[in-house]
Amino acid sequence: MEYKELADLIFPNVKDASYYEEKYPERDLKEGAMVTRFAPSPTGFVHMGSLYTSFSAITLARQSGGVVYLRIEDTDQKREVENGVEGIINDFNNLKIYFDEGPTQGGNYGPYIQSERRDIYQSFAKKLLEEGKAYPCFATEEELKNLREMQELNKERIGYYGSWAKYRNLPVEEAINKIKNGEDYIIRLKSPGDFNNKIILDDCIKGKIEMPENDMDIVIIKSDGLPTYHFAHAVDDHLMRTTHVIRGDEWVSSYPIHKQLFEVLGFREPKYAHIAPLTIKEGTTIRKLSKRKDKESAISFYNKIGVPDEVIKLYIATINNSSFEEWYIANPDKTIDDYEFTFDKMPIGGSLFDLDKLMSISKVYFSKLTAQDIYKRTLEYSKEYDQEFYELIKDDSNYLTSLLNIERNIERPRMDIGSYSDVKKEFWYMFDTLFTKVDKPYQDVSYPYDITFIRDYFTKVYNEEDNEEEWFNKVKDFASSVGFAINRKEYKEDPTKFLGNIADFCSIIRVMLTTSNMSPNMYDLLKIYGKDKLLQRLDIFLKDVNN
Ligand code: GLU
Repeated sequence: MEYKELADLIFPNVKDASYYEEKYPERDLKEGAMVTRFAPSPTGFVHMGSLYTSFSAITLARQSGGVVYLRIEDTDQKREVENGVEGIINDFNNLKIYFDEGPTQGGNYGPYIQSERRDIYQSFAKKLLEEGKAYPCFATEEELKNLREMQELNKERIGYYGSWAKYRNLPVEEAINKIKNGEDYIIRLKSPGDFNNKIILDDCIKGKIEMPENDMDIVIIKSDGLPTYHFAHAVDDHLMRTTHVIRGDEWVSSYPIHKQLFEVLGFREPKYAHIAPLTIKEGTTIRKLSKRKDKESAISFYNKIGVPDEVIKLYIATINNSSFEEWYIANPDKTIDDYEFTFDKMPIGGSLFDLDKLMSISKVYFSKLTAQDIYKRTLEYSKEYDQEFYELIKDDSNYLTSLLNIERNIERPRMDIGSYSDVKKEFWYMFDTLFTKVDKPYQDVSYPYDITFIRDYFTKVYNEEDNEEEWFNKVKDFASSVGFAINRKEYKEDPTKFLGNIADFCSIIRVMLTTSNMSPNMYDLLKIYGKDKLLQRLDIFLKDVNN
């Protein structure tokens, strides 16, 4: 009776917990269907780490014919950022990652923002108060500080527990008086645990982990009336009927608290899958990928350079499941959705985040796209991120598409493009506006012999109508006539007899057009660029290189 009075005094106007049990019934799903959630705090953006965790939650729920929902965990109002919720929702939308339920789309188990669920938490806190399983704690900052100092001095475990928990056994009547007198308080769990007992977490990814039972009287409702993470986790994951709690492994050590809360509240415990963090190499050490320090952790970084969302997802899938990559290579026509993700292939320790690997996956991805598709996507990308290039390509899809088609539809296509911004980096020299903007395009180029013969090649020999074979035969004849070896063996026998070999001759043409010694197929480039313009480029080249 006394407990009831206390509970009514603290939470006079909340509904009975049974109301919510009825309001949020068990979900009617087929056997084995998982209900998972992604539960970020409203940090304003999605980063690689959160994408990685949400990826598991989403794929496992979808594959099993279950439900995945987004829940915003904003009970720590000190950490609020402006547009924190909208930012996250936008990022997911941009990535075309959708949840079945959440703050925007709604659902039968909402609200999906914790600060809007205050009454629900309070109902369950009230229930615990009524049952004598929770109590108001009036400890001041000062008292807690002293407690800590005493524990340190006595080399005791730090925390609010057992006989150290001063207000745990405060007579209810006294508590009622204190509240009536307006004293500040929070609500704590009256932990029934014993630190000497062992409990076991049977983690879906990490296997069995033994830990001491919780005996801390943890805070469940803070002075602002909102729950702590622990309490909200138990109430929400129960009422939202989560079957698998998939979350970062920094929460493993809190499991004893969570297990106990589920027991005390009379809830069935969900299964847990703790995901190891993404890590990064820094010198010789390995540390957690940081959303503050590491630029590659922000999704916006990939948007800016133009890495397609699909690639980000492919990379995440690759580090998420150890056999995904091999499977994907063996099944080039399949998509992520065709692969069956399982907990047992997820990494137990940290997964090394490797930007080079991500970019190489991207290059393979681009190599499978059609030139038209890349053109369209590059157009969209440059409209937002590179207005100058957008203007250059927007009215002539053929030009860029032909360039992108060079060595594309062959068994081993080129792998030089890994992002939409690479398209410009790869072909800038084919656009005169970009070329003429470069101050000294040939500044590193020099030859140990006079190369003016190249003018003769272009004016007298080069013919746009030639097919590739005819073209190359003429190149060889001309090169030979001006002193280049066209036969490797001959050249090897006595290089001093020649200006260089045929590759050296071709390189002059290549450098003239592209400024570099590496480029896609020369024959195609020359033809697409066109003879008239080649003669103009030749003038610039000869002027620059001879000076
Ligand atoms: N809001 C918690 C976090 O940001 C979520 C943990 C969980 O998924 O339960 O880490």
